[in-house]
Amino acid sequence: MNNLSLSVAVPFYNEEQNVEEFYRRVSVVLKDLGKSYEIVAVDDGSRDTTLAKLESIHERDKNVRVVSLSRNFGHEAAVTAALDNTSGETVVLMDGDLQDAPEFIPNLLAKLNEGYDVVLATHDKRRDPLLRMFLFRSFYLLMDRLASYKMPANVGAFSVMRRPVVDILVSLSERNRYVAGLRAWVGFRQTELVYEKQERFAGKPPQTFRKLLAMGFDALFSFSYVPLRAATIFGLLISLGAIAGILDVFYQKFISHTAILGWSGPMLSILIVGGGQLIILGIIGEYIGRIYDEVKHRPYYVVSQKIGF
Ligand code: UDP
Ligand code: MG
Repeated sequence: MNNLSLSVAVPFYNEEQNVEEFYRRVSVVLKDLGKSYEIVAVDDGSRDTTLAKLESIHERDKNVRVVSLSRNFGHEAAVTAALDNTSGETVVLMDGDLQDAPEFIPNLLAKLNEGYDVVLATHDKRRDPLLRMFLFRSFYLLMDRLASYKMPANVGAFSVMRRPVVDILVSLSERNRYVAGLRAWVGFRQTELVYEKQERFAGKPPQTFRKLLAMGFDALFSFSYVPLRAATIFGLLISLGAIAGILDVFYQKFISHTAILGWSGPMLSILIVGGGQLIILGIIGEYIGRIYDEVKHRPYYVVSQKIGF
C-alpha cells in the first residue's frame, strides 16, 4: 500500500536536447498541484547522453526515477516499462519531446475528477509533415473500419488513468502491443479532452516511418480479424467464378460446340488464383508470426538498471 498520489510516465529515446526542458516544465506543473508525485522516466536505449542527463536530474531531485532499458525496444515497450514502474494513484502518460504540453496535465486531472477513470488527450490537428499526416489519417480511418471494437482516433500516449486501469493495462501480457488500443480495450469510464499538440521542443522524431509502419501493422492485426475474413471472402468469390467458368466450358463443349483451344484463359486464371493465394498466405502469416511471438513468451523489454526505486 502506498499513498503516492501522482505518477508521470514518460519514454525517452535520443532526447538529450529535451530532457532538461521537459523536467523543468513538468516539475513546475506538478509542484503547483501540491500533491506527492514521481516522474518515472524510461531511457529506451538512447545512444546519446539522455541517460546521463536523466541520472543527473535524479541526483538533484529524488522525485525522478529512471528505468534504463538494455537496448532500444521501441515506443510501445518503453511506455509499458514506464507504466510498470509507476505506483501513483493516478498516472499521467505522455511523450518526452514536449509535444504533449505539461501545462495541460491539470486540465486532464480536472476532467478525471468529474468522475472518469481515463481521460485521453485528443489532438484535432497533428502538426506534422503532410505525408505523415496523410498516413496517420489513413491509419485511423482503417482502424475505425476494421477494428473489432470502437477505437478513439487522434490519440497518442497523452492521457491520465486511475490505478485500477493501469494495473489491468500492465497485466495484459501480449507482446504485440498497441498501447492506445489496449487502453481502449480495458474499458471503464473513458472520455476525451481536446488539446493542441505542440511542436517538438528540439530534435527530430526518433519514431521513424519504419517503426510507425510496424506499429500500424501491429495495431491492425492485433485488433482486427477483418483481413482474415476478407481473405475467406476473396477465396469464395474466386471459387464462385471458377464454378461459373466450369459450367461455361461444359456448355461450350456439349451444347454450343464453340470451345476454342487456347492458353490465355488458363494462364490468366493461374496467375489470378496464384496471386490471390499468396496474398492470403501473407495475411495468415501476419497472424501466425504474431502467435509465434506470443508463444515464445519473451519479456517485452529488458531493464538494465533502475535508479531511485
Ligand atoms: N520513443 C521511445 N522509443 C523509440 C521511439 C520513440 O521511447 O523507439 C519516445 C520518444 O523519445 C518520445 C516518444 O517516444 O518521447 C514519442 O516519439 P516521437 O516523438 O518520435 O513520436 P511521434 O510524436 O511522432 O508520435
Ligand atoms: Mg513526438
